Amino acid sequence: MKRAISIISRVLLSLLFIFGYFIYPDMVQAKKANNIVELKEQLAELQAQKQKQASAKAQTQSEINAKKNSIYKAYQEKENIKGEVEDAKNKISESEESISKAKVDFDNVLKYYQVSSKNNNYLEYVTDASSTTELIMRIKAVERVTDYYKNKITTLKNLIVEKQNLQVELNEKDNQLSSAITTYSNALDELNDQMEAIDEIAEDIDSQIRAQEETIKYYKSICESETQALSTCTNDPQSFGWRKPTVKGRVSSLFGYRTFDNAFHPGIDISGNAEGTPEYASAAGRVAAITHRSNCGGNMVYLHVTVNGQKYTLVYAHMLEIKVKLNQIVTTDTVLGTVGGYSTSTHYSKSGYDRCAYGAHLHYGISTGWYHVDYHTWSSFISHMIDPMKTGFPSKGVYWYKR
Ligand SMILES: [Zn+2]
Repeated sequence: MKRAISIISRVLLSLLFIFGYFIYPDMVQAKKANNIVELKEQLAELQAQKQKQASAKAQTQSEINAKKNSIYKAYQEKENIKGEVEDAKNKISESEESISKAKVDFDNVLKYYQVSSKNNNYLEYVTDASSTTELIMRIKAVERVTDYYKNKITTLKNLIVEKQNLQVELNEKDNQLSSAITTYSNALDELNDQMEAIDEIAEDIDSQIRAQEETIKYYKSICESETQALSTCTNDPQSFGWRKPTVKGRVSSLFGYRTFDNAFHPGIDISGNAEGTPEYASAAGRVAAITHRSNCGGNMVYLHVTVNGQKYTLVYAHMLEIKVKLNQIVTTDTVLGTVGGYSTSTHYSKSGYDRCAYGAHLHYGISTGWYHVDYHTWSSFISHMIDPMKTGFPSKGVYWYKR
């Protein structure tokens, strides 16, 4: 039930947001930041929301305090009324006692006047007078006494009526206070639920602020400036200079247009190694893609590397085995896989072999920039190819024996 009320409060708060009182924190996440400057703007927005939540909280708290105060006052008033009712009751019983007492007194007084045991005391008393003057005096005296008690009893009876009316009035007041307390308590429950929802949102905002601060800290450590596109920032290892992809080898086919097959050769072929010879990353970076093309290329590994601050995509083709995983960080000591490259009928069924390789060799290509070499980026990857010979290989046919 509490939960249901909380959800309703949240809905109400969301409505308040629509009317501009709150900005619901999820709104910030909807937008994607492109650089650190934008991340910082989002953080500022979150902090502004936190402020708004804090003032909403303060506002709700003061409303809660006011309601509690009203309830306290109503209870105090009820306590006072209880005392007044008690007083009225006491007055009534006191008056009732006084009336009984007055009646007894009156009887006693009449008895005092009694001169015979006959029934009509008063008459005996009066007719017993010895003279007219005494008779008149006796009549007057009895009248006065009678009036006195009559008045006294009337006054007391009036007082009882007055106090009974007061009691009715006080009970009414008490009922009003009780219903006021119920109203205040309901309002207080609502405010408490509202407070709970505000606290939950505030917690959400706090956790978003912490996450945003972490994100900013992270990107500050990997971006070169606050305006650099986040997608281009990296903390992958970098190289300063190139190493060769194999310990030993010779270039057997050059990069570029080849006359013998009348085609563009997108890389160099490195021969002089037996099948299964390790192939290394020639620069530090990350495994960007692993593919297999049986038509031409076989098992292929693509690397995203950074050399002297410049990003490159490398391709290794015709591999016998692949020993790295997608997104794996690589250094120049990482073995990516091994040399393959036969496409003879006996080897062809082996995984990794393709139709355009004749003899064990590594096809090795370099492109400037990072491409995921998928359907969309393939042509960009090819058009940005550079001649790997520029990265420090001896002339075609000349062996090297260290990387
Ligand atoms: Zn090749």
